[in-house]
Amino acid sequence: MSLMKAPENTPVWTDESRCKACDICVAVCPAGVLAMRYDPHTILGQMITVVEPDACIGCNECELSCPDFAIFVADKKEYKFAKLTEQAKERAKKIAENNYMVLGA
Ligand code: SF4
Ligand code: SF4
Repeated sequence: MSLMKAPENTPVWTDESRCKACDICVAVCPAGVLAMRYDPHTILGQMITVVEPDACIGCNECELSCPDFAIFVADKKEYKFAKLTEQAKERAKKIAENNYMVLGA
């Protein structure tokens, strides 16, 4: 159940006003869809970012893990999610190795 109205044709979206930049959703995402970006306007200096929406497999791990109800996943009936690929797994690994920050930033 999401607290925000679902945007159209979007697999995963965030409520930046709730995000505490804890990294948990990035750590649990198997497909390298999420990462943290630098954001000097926030208390922790980071903000959640959806970097590869097309790779989202709709596993819901991010939404279930977020302690602040700041990330939401589309209903499987309303969005056709991707399959988990080796490329996506590799990106998730690289993001983790990059302290959960956006790659190349
Ligand atoms: S639903 Fe799964 S694949 Fe999609 S962003 Fe969340 S954790 Fe990643
Ligand atoms: S788990 Fe929630 S609060 Fe933590 S970084 Fe992700 S969206 Fe932000």
